[in-house]
Amino acid sequence: VAGIATVRIALTSQRTKKTLIAVASGKGGVGKSTVSANLAIGLQALGRRVGLVDADIYGPSQPKLMGVEGSRPTAKDKLLEPVATPYGVPLLSMGQLVAADQAIAWRGPMAAGALGQLIDADWAAQDTLVIDLPPGTGDVQLTMIQKHKPAGAVIVSTPQDLALIDARRAIDLFAKAGVPIIGLVENMAGYACPHCGEVSDPFGRGGAEAAAAELGIAFLGRIPLDIAIRSASDAGTPPAARNGPEALAFTAIAQRVFH
Ligand code: ADP
Repeated sequence: VAGIATVRIALTSQRTKKTLIAVASGKGGVGKSTVSANLAIGLQALGRRVGLVDADIYGPSQPKLMGVEGSRPTAKDKLLEPVATPYGVPLLSMGQLVAADQAIAWRGPMAAGALGQLIDADWAAQDTLVIDLPPGTGDVQLTMIQKHKPAGAVIVSTPQDLALIDARRAIDLFAKAGVPIIGLVENMAGYACPHCGEVSDPFGRGGAEAAAAELGIAFLGRIPLDIAIRSASDAGTPPAARNGPEALAFTAIAQRVFH
């Protein structure tokens, strides 16, 4: 990945248009949805008016993560109305467009159309949209980049994933299209002991930060593999919205996005 410019998004940028922040990963299961939900809540806590768009057609998990499983948006003047969540961040999800037990097996153009409905919805009250993309580099990502032109992309990776080619491919896709890479979040980095809270590093420490430096992108921070994060997420109470110590790591990442 050559020639990537590290960016800082100005807080006051895009006064009329919304600031779209795409959250991407090379592959699934690295915590991209978890980071998206908690980043959205963290940015909201910093005073932005944030909406969350769940564009992950393969596994739309934001309704569950945000405590509104089974919710359905209404439509007004042909625009979808985002669903309110207990955390002040309204949400629209691919998962809300289909019945709960229905698999989403859309062709490229349909997925792109659905993404358009989610982004061009009634977000009048929001200045910032966090967009949880599907993993990889497919149709939804291309539509996101070409049509909706995000202000920047946050890349989520595990320490192991980073060594693989996938995360770099995702970075390359945005960089080649001229979408600034806001930075890299290292998730499941080290293991937080559920008894004493101490974080140990079975895969070593500092690898992701070094890789980010090598790629010329900012390092936004690391989130440990922590049972408290998984159980809070499963319960629909995102850690960033709780008063626990795990909220701090997410808040710190949110702070770095605009600075
Ligand atoms: P992705 O969106 O990349 O597919 P998810 O955010 O859905 O990944 O996370 C996959 C699983 O890992 C979920 O069960 C989630 O709760 C869990 N998880 C994500 N990040 C962490 C973490 N830092 N500590 C513990 N569990 C995590």
